[in-house]
Amino acid sequence: MEMDVVTKLREAFPDLSEDTLQQLKGLVRVATYPPNTLICEEGAYEYVFYLIVDGEVEITKHFDGGEERVLRHSTVGDFFGEMALVQQEPRAANVRTTRDTTVIEFDKEVFDNLLASSPELAWRMVRTTFDRLRSNDQTALSDLHEAYMTLARLDKAKLDFIEIAAHELRTPLTVIQGYADVLRNNDVIQTDSVLTEIVGGIMRGTTRLYEIVNGMLDITKIDTDTLKTSRVPVLLQSVFAELKNEFSSALAERKLELHVKQIGDVPYIEADPNLIYKVFYQLLVNAIKYTPDNGSITVTYWLTEVERMGPAVAIAVQDTGIGIDPKHQKAIFEKFYQIGQVALHSSGKTSFKGGGPGLGLALVKGAIEAHQGMVWVESEGYDEEKLPGSAFKVLLPAHTPDFLSQQ
Ligand code: ADP
Repeated sequence: MEMDVVTKLREAFPDLSEDTLQQLKGLVRVATYPPNTLICEEGAYEYVFYLIVDGEVEITKHFDGGEERVLRHSTVGDFFGEMALVQQEPRAANVRTTRDTTVIEFDKEVFDNLLASSPELAWRMVRTTFDRLRSNDQTALSDLHEAYMTLARLDKAKLDFIEIAAHELRTPLTVIQGYADVLRNNDVIQTDSVLTEIVGGIMRGTTRLYEIVNGMLDITKIDTDTLKTSRVPVLLQSVFAELKNEFSSALAERKLELHVKQIGDVPYIEADPNLIYKVFYQLLVNAIKYTPDNGSITVTYWLTEVERMGPAVAIAVQDTGIGIDPKHQKAIFEKFYQIGQVALHSSGKTSFKGGGPGLGLALVKGAIEAHQGMVWVESEGYDEEKLPGSAFKVLLPAHTPDFLSQQ
């Protein structure tokens, strides 16, 4: 049956005059394609505009990673191919027939003239293009959402695994520690300096393992927001004195100097003493780890006033180490984030560039935020020759008089 092209054109472009429709009839082509014909191919330079008069097409696109996704199906009355024409760019998608499909084809010149003489068509194209862009946005957003959900699931699985592993490790560790303690107190061992040294080594090893396991558990708690802070007035002066003591042998071993400077009067902070200790412990471990021998670490703290926080204590932990590239400065506070290759790390806790599980700064951030504080890092960049150093800055709300009176 011969198709009445003019009728189809009139239905598609009702504002065109009869003369124009008759003229157009001689300028367009009518074509029927069998199912599964690729009419437009992504990337191809080919400028034809198509109006579907019978059948259906499927529009697909390759996304990153090579996956071909169906964008939409178009049927009678719909058009396609206009984007490449308007933008003079290669095809942005594939158009394939799903069954026998008849189209009216307009070459570029004909299409341009048509557009000029039919405001109705121009408007329809603008509207349709917006709709399509919107629906593409929707697809992109839902893809993003799906990817986010997958990542969140993976993250949760990782944390669940860490939690289980940490709990499982704790029991045998306690057993080893118990037996090591028995050995240490044994008369025979106490009289043998070599055995005493060996047992001392076992004890140090288990203590270190405990620290790692507890760090793993801390991070799972931070993530589930179950990190409890029981606040009491804490004097930073005592925290740093204790830490200086804690690190004295590591500092001597690595020939590093640690200076602690209080500027002016500094009040108590309202804090969980264990968590605050862990925060500065971690910042100092890192400063030691990422500063080569003969360097120095300076902790400075003072009272200040911060917008939206009020009176606050500012603490800066400055080292003369390798520094941190600005592009990593935010991400290092994410859990599991490490710069460089994990396998290259040496494993000593305070040895130069000794690796960790990449959880330290995540714990720092979680703990500081649990105290309504802020933490960030300032560093000119990473340079193992010039050693620009890093400064970790912390703000913690200072105590208010009524906090103390509530105690
Ligand atoms: P890790 O267990 O790897 O030390 P952290 O969360 O403590 O994990 O630190 C994340 C990364 O941030 C480290 O791998 C290191 O590259 C970088 N970093 C942390 N502190 C410093 C510092 N003081 N100087 C230079 N780099 C640092």
